[in-house]
Amino acid sequence: MSHVLHRSVNGAYSVAVGGKGVMLYDAQGKSYIDASGGAAVSCLGHGHPDIVAAMHAQIDKLAYAHTSFFTSEPAEELAEHLIARAPKGLSNVFICSSGSEAIEACLKLARHYFIETGESRRTNFISRRQSYHGITVGALSVGGRMKDRAPFKEMLLTGHHIAPCYLYRDRRTDETPEQYGLRVADELEAKILELGPDTVAAFVAETVVGATLGAATPAPGYFKRIREICDRHGVLLILDEVMCGMGRTGTLHACEQEGIAPDLMAIAKGLGAGYAPIGAMLASGRIVDAIRQGSGAFPHSQTYNGHPLACATALAVQKVIERDDLLANVRLQGDHLERRLKERFGNHHHVGDVRGRGHFWGIELVADRASKTPFEANLKLNARIKQAAMARGLMVYPMGGTADGTAGDHVLLAPPFIADAAVMDMIVERLGEAVDAAIADAL
Ligand code: PMP
Repeated sequence: MSHVLHRSVNGAYSVAVGGKGVMLYDAQGKSYIDASGGAAVSCLGHGHPDIVAAMHAQIDKLAYAHTSFFTSEPAEELAEHLIARAPKGLSNVFICSSGSEAIEACLKLARHYFIETGESRRTNFISRRQSYHGITVGALSVGGRMKDRAPFKEMLLTGHHIAPCYLYRDRRTDETPEQYGLRVADELEAKILELGPDTVAAFVAETVVGATLGAATPAPGYFKRIREICDRHGVLLILDEVMCGMGRTGTLHACEQEGIAPDLMAIAKGLGAGYAPIGAMLASGRIVDAIRQGSGAFPHSQTYNGHPLACATALAVQKVIERDDLLANVRLQGDHLERRLKERFGNHHHVGDVRGRGHFWGIELVADRASKTPFEANLKLNARIKQAAMARGLMVYPMGGTADGTAGDHVLLAPPFIADAAVMDMIVERLGEAVDAAIADAL
């Protein structure tokens, strides 16, 4: 019996022993196409020689130096690299080890900013239902997946939720996508007014929703309206690009495609491509300047902040992405993947929606296409698809719907940026077989 405490405590897990390119191998010698990059992490695939070499070089020099004594060359270079390519106004990088920590840092820095600027009444955070922002208590407080929150309800910080931007299910038939986007964005303004504008610190949202809604893209104009509302009421905009950022949607940051910049942004996953645990918060110059001119302190640090080996790894990952023009491949092969998915699932009886951007795609499964009725949760279709896909040598990221039927089961795809058309074809072929087998098994 395993002594590792797994997410599924009684679960039986294969033992991963190796990886090369888009493939992962287990101890039984079975190979899997990593079509989800784990959880949208392994954007360069596995065993990339340039990343391995950069890691060796750094570990030979310096693995660790505590940030209360030193900064390090890789941390400085990574921050410089990120800021040179960051959305407008972002000037500083806080480097941590995960997405949850990056979100925690955003919440804390937002709070510090308002203390420094004499607006300490701003303690409320607004986010969206059916969202995931991480597992630590602060991140869970803004998360909007009610079943994750339920056991900790009494322990969470004040969090307020508005509707997600979920075109497939929530747009009325008499609305254009644009009208729908503005209607749900305006829920933010209503919530700010209800709470009192001078009590609201920030609004938190994923630019493209990953785990909870399966690559749900925002309606056109939605984020522009959100940005206007935040500015009108002095509320900070925190974008969670932990999953959808760092090239996943075909531009380095997903918000570039929305034509807006946040005040704070969380990134992780693709930043280090899984070669090292790393996340980061990017902060606007306005916020950092307020602290610089005030107390001068952001008292929020952890032992592994700015870890030199993690930073050198992430820098190497980002340089390879640029050197090999991999975002052009994400756009090109993303279009190919979209075509293939729509051919295979566009008329499928049990697929209601195919959505996404770049190398970030989701299919939503339904018991009935016309009424969009989700499958019964107790069928555990998501678990069946995962099993059927693994049996066919394919890793995808299926997720269950909500118990109240406001979202259906979906499957998330996040193939590595190096994937070519032949890999995409194989992914869609195996996924099609796995979905059909899982549904046949469930019904
Ligand atoms: N935000 C989003 C959007 C995520 O998808 C995740 C991870 N799935 C997190 C935050 C938390 O990241 P981590 O698991 O690295 O703590």
